[in-house]
Amino acid sequence: MRFKLSVRARLTVWSCGVFFLGFVLLAISAYAGLRSTVVKVVDDELTSRLVGLDNFLGEHLVRLPVTKLQREISSHAALKPAYLVLQDPQGEFLYCGASVTYLCTDASMTSTPMFSRMSDLRILSVVHVFGGAPYRIRLASDLSFERTILRDFSFWLLLIAPLAGLSAALGGYVLSGRALEPVRGIIREVHAIGEHSLDHRLHVPSTGDDIQLLTETLNGMLARVDRAFRQVRELTANASHELRTPISIIRTSAEIALLNARPTIESQRQALLQICAEAEKNTRLLDHMLMLARTDSGAQALQFSRVSLAKSVRQAIAACQHLAEAKQIVLRLGNDGDTSLWADASHLHRLWLLLLDNAVKYTAPGGEVRVQTYIGPNGLAKCEIVDNGIGIEADDLKHIFDRFYRAENARLACDVGSGLGLEIAQWITGVHDATLTVESVPGAGSTFRVAFAVRRETPRSESRKDDEGCEVDAGSEASLARVTR
Ligand code: ADP
Repeated sequence: MRFKLSVRARLTVWSCGVFFLGFVLLAISAYAGLRSTVVKVVDDELTSRLVGLDNFLGEHLVRLPVTKLQREISSHAALKPAYLVLQDPQGEFLYCGASVTYLCTDASMTSTPMFSRMSDLRILSVVHVFGGAPYRIRLASDLSFERTILRDFSFWLLLIAPLAGLSAALGGYVLSGRALEPVRGIIREVHAIGEHSLDHRLHVPSTGDDIQLLTETLNGMLARVDRAFRQVRELTANASHELRTPISIIRTSAEIALLNARPTIESQRQALLQICAEAEKNTRLLDHMLMLARTDSGAQALQFSRVSLAKSVRQAIAACQHLAEAKQIVLRLGNDGDTSLWADASHLHRLWLLLLDNAVKYTAPGGEVRVQTYIGPNGLAKCEIVDNGIGIEADDLKHIFDRFYRAENARLACDVGSGLGLEIAQWITGVHDATLTVESVPGAGSTFRVAFAVRRETPRSESRKDDEGCEVDAGSEASLARVTR
């Protein structure tokens, strides 16, 4: 396992490192600044000594014999004679200070003034003209005092460095601990949230900083997880409820048929018909649930191709004709315009079947269902399914697309239904970039309208096949049509 430092330890190391680096840079620049100041002070002192010496030599050099001159120089303490070297134009040493005798070996002359260093000495070399002849002067200054200052300074810097590093580490540790405390609080709160307390929300501090943003983000995520959990629970409860009734009817029918001491062919047939009808209800419910599970997980495959709107609607009407006839309902088709859509033919077929099935289901015998395709003034291809059935109350209209929702009047009018059909219909229109709207007058009928944006390109195609017709997979729809009978 790789060794991992905690965030707090990492922050401490980082703050310590950054502080230490800053300290080292500061120390280096302070040392360099001090050193150059020291050198400048020494050089200024040498220059002012040179001015004094110039005055002295201008007055005495040409006038006095060499021995007298040497004595005069030795007697002027201000000239610091121990650190002075004087050469005549021939290179002969006129004066050689006691502390700088080793400088009296170099007889060469240079005209430019120059500061140089030699062991512990800072030396100013210059050639000045007295009485028309060039004399070389070398003034030296002992650097041992300045050296001591710089050595002491670096000693203190080195002594302070670990202390500074230590206090930076300590400060970093304490500060990062305080900065991370709200995060630890969030971790504790999140730990306390289990699957049964998903409605719990984290305390949001009104600090306007990242912690507030983090808690708000986590609360948003918790709300989504909570909603998803609720939906799963509701789905399980609703599905169990919807499946239980047909299964109990199947069992009861079978038990009654078995217990019948004198079974007739007719009584057996009735029992079997009942069982078949209930089994088909379950098949339809499971079919819808499976479809929704696939759409929820994004696993529902789509096969886009060119599909004729009018042809697709015609085929669905043909598949529903016998349902309508069974209820003496007139099923009419009006075609005021056709267009070819980029659509998944089988899903489009399923959409029409779901809407037609509802229209027939919720219309009383002798009623009428009209289907109309047309191209709207705004260029949208539309298909309307209009019935004169039970209609939908305004309160129910808001919920009819919800999973498992069935309006009270629908339950009373027809016991066949799961409340899943319109959600599937809405999903199908969604993947075709179409809209599904409904208008209804309770007791007078409903109009379901699908509007497609006619476009040349496939909207969300997974595969394209240039198919002018409508290839319909009527397998599952056949069972749908049968169930509603
Ligand atoms: P169901 O299987 O119950 O028909 P749907 O999801 O297809 O489920 O429809 C949801 C609800 O919308 C229905 O239970 C019914 O209340 C209402 N509904 C749908 N279509 C119609 C219609 N044509 N006329 C009246 N009510 C309808």
